[in-house]
Amino acid sequence: MTPSDDAKSPPEADKVHENTQYAELHALLQKRRFGLRFPAGLEGAFRRYHANESARAFRSIVFYVLLLYLALGIGIIYITPWQALDLWPVGYLGLGLIILAAAILSRLERFDRYYELQVTGLSFAGMALLVVLPFLIRDELMRRLAMIGIIHGLVVVSAALGLRFFPALMAMVGGGITGLVIAGFTGHTLEWLMVHQTFTGGCLIGAFLAWLAEKRSRQVFLQRQLLAMEKARSEALAEQMRDMSRHDNLTGLANRRYFDEVLAHEWLRCRRNGTFLSLLFIDVDFFKHFNDHYGHQRGDMCLRQLANVLQSFARRPGDFASRYGGEEFVILYPQTEPDTAGALAGDILRFVSELKIEHRYSSVADHVTVSIGVASLAPAEGEAPEQLVKAADHAMYLAKRGGRNRIRQYHPKRVPPSETPPGHSRDLPM
Ligand code: GH3
Ligand code: MG
Ligand code: MG
Repeated sequence: MTPSDDAKSPPEADKVHENTQYAELHALLQKRRFGLRFPAGLEGAFRRYHANESARAFRSIVFYVLLLYLALGIGIIYITPWQALDLWPVGYLGLGLIILAAAILSRLERFDRYYELQVTGLSFAGMALLVVLPFLIRDELMRRLAMIGIIHGLVVVSAALGLRFFPALMAMVGGGITGLVIAGFTGHTLEWLMVHQTFTGGCLIGAFLAWLAEKRSRQVFLQRQLLAMEKARSEALAEQMRDMSRHDNLTGLANRRYFDEVLAHEWLRCRRNGTFLSLLFIDVDFFKHFNDHYGHQRGDMCLRQLANVLQSFARRPGDFASRYGGEEFVILYPQTEPDTAGALAGDILRFVSELKIEHRYSSVADHVTVSIGVASLAPAEGEAPEQLVKAADHAMYLAKRGGRNRIRQYHPKRVPPSETPPGHSRDLPM
């Protein structure tokens, strides 16, 4: 283990955890050795997912099932002589009421969370009733038909309700045996061959179906988890790429491309609000000499230090500092009056000087200094944001020509055109 492994930053640690989790899920899916139980944390998530999916599917079909059940009951009553039916309609109605109860429950908010418990309970009761039902009929043929109905019930419980294997097994076997016990205790003779042909055989097939369904659902769950992780990963990557494409590697400030986007946006905003948009164009003085004598690395360090200072001068919402290129920076101040912008430029100039970054090869001071061009415009229809950049750049050029380590300000909109020609600039008191 390298020392840096100990001191992993939280996002890095998260990433490692995420990767391990992904690998584990992937291995689980590949090996299919999960049986009917996942490792602890995953099992809880699966059960919630499974219950939600089953509840949703149940809700969408239960009223049609109820209708079908009603139609089937009417059909049976229609084709069967009344005496042969015996007590069958009572049992059939009871089962219908159980399905109705499930349909009503499925409309309740808490249904999804307790899906398994409720549906297992109702299935248990339904199976018990379904097994008792044939014993209520004296007619031989009708009784046999009702016994076959048990198989239908088992298929529904095992394959159509989306219960997991064990709850389905409990409802089928437990409910069925309860029905047989009730029939036995109420003096009915159990025809074991028929019971095995219908109930026992149906239980075996039903158990297999339920096992298959749960296995499949677990597989789908794993695939979905992996897909969700991949999606989150690619979204994070896209976000990272977008961030990288908008920021400068060296200083971490926004880059020129991002600046152009923000400038266009703020230009329109200030035009809508009828307010000033101010821009500072900041260029390091004699930076070539700095690089030549102190080396590129010290030059880079110096740029990073300056970037930090500039960023600290862009604190209000909307203020925007960026690296325009090389040793040139810009700060955009929306809704900022020329005087305020000039004052901010003055503060920056002083702040940079007070950093006292040694620069013995500068002709204006023994430390690093900057020249700042300030421009303020109240954006109007027919004008373009480039005008503001041009004006600030020009003012910066005048600051250089004026001796460097100073500010020049340009704000044509403040000066009546009759008094001063466009492009007027003035020295600010330092
Ligand atoms: P002036 O006062 O007129 O602005 O003179 P200057 O030397 O600052 O201007 P010039 O445009 O001649 O030189 C800019 C220098 O900035 C040249 C280049 O070596 C340096 N530079 C630009 N980008 C970087 C960078 O990313 N890192 C470093 N270390 N230096 C850079
Ligand atoms: Mg320059
Ligand atoms: Mg320069």
